Amino acid sequence: MLRVRFHGRGGQGAKVASRVLGTAAFIEGCYAQDFPLYGAERRGAPIAAFTRISPKPILERGVISEPDIVIILDETLLDDPIANPLSGIKEGGIVFINTAHSPAEAKDKFKVTKQVITLDITKIGLDMLGLPVLSTLAGGVASRIAGLKEDSLRNAVEKEASEILTDKSLVTKNVEAALYCFHAVQPVKVKTTETIQKGSPVIDVPFEPAVISSPTINTTGNTLLRKTGNWRVFKPVWNYEACTKCMTCVARCPDGCIAVNEDGFPYTDYDNCKGCMICVEECPVKAIEKVRDVHAW
Ligand code: SF4
Ligand code: SF4
Repeated sequence: MLRVRFHGRGGQGAKVASRVLGTAAFIEGCYAQDFPLYGAERRGAPIAAFTRISPKPILERGVISEPDIVIILDETLLDDPIANPLSGIKEGGIVFINTAHSPAEAKDKFKVTKQVITLDITKIGLDMLGLPVLSTLAGGVASRIAGLKEDSLRNAVEKEASEILTDKSLVTKNVEAALYCFHAVQPVKVKTTETIQKGSPVIDVPFEPAVISSPTINTTGNTLLRKTGNWRVFKPVWNYEACTKCMTCVARCPDGCIAVNEDGFPYTDYDNCKGCMICVEECPVKAIEKVRDVHAW
């Protein structure tokens, strides 16, 4: 059995990526499972998704704690102790990181001991789809690493994209982007050995005690110390010459990160601006520009 774990940010498409992989494997004649695990359902919050692929019926259930392949859609998650995307990867496992950096640079920077594959799928998404939505692209990468066929991927993306997109041209673009990413990654052999997760094949996922599920701050992952602006793809930049000080942007920011300076102009807290671009859309005089923000190491 092949176990694949995806790590992404809410809104990036990790859940659909796991589904594309599962559907491609199913089309190819395998048994497959795919499912997500959300924390806070908030754009930008870390999420994980899982796919199991096997030629035999899959009895194992629950989250994948010992993956053969890890697909990381956002490199800033590698610094996030809550997401912890490198945990439990099996010997011989493979890590894919969405980054502009080479595998050697990424390995060194993030202290990864497993084989690393990199590709800047955010840039490919922006170039080919016009959006930083990575679902079908990450599905293409994962299908290649999992050793699936191009036709299986094509059919899976057509099926999954058609279910969520009404615009046929966007479905076609997603198929092209997924296939581009599939071919941009060299074929690899996953060398991990078959193991069943410890104990019963059914993983016991305990119900969270009330102290965790109630709205109490329990970990640093939920405190003021957690910066949510580190994974932005775009940032808002204000043009004060055009701004009429109407304060619409201040009112509309879902994270409350826009304040007003001494001259009465709005400005944002870039440490916590998540780059949703709602302020850009809502400004009645288009005084806020959407500017590409590239993570610098
Ligand atoms: S992009 Fe604008 S609306 Fe969105 S979080 Fe940043 S400042 Fe707020
Ligand atoms: S919405 Fe536009 S015009 Fe109004 S305060 Fe914000 S930037 Fe200025």
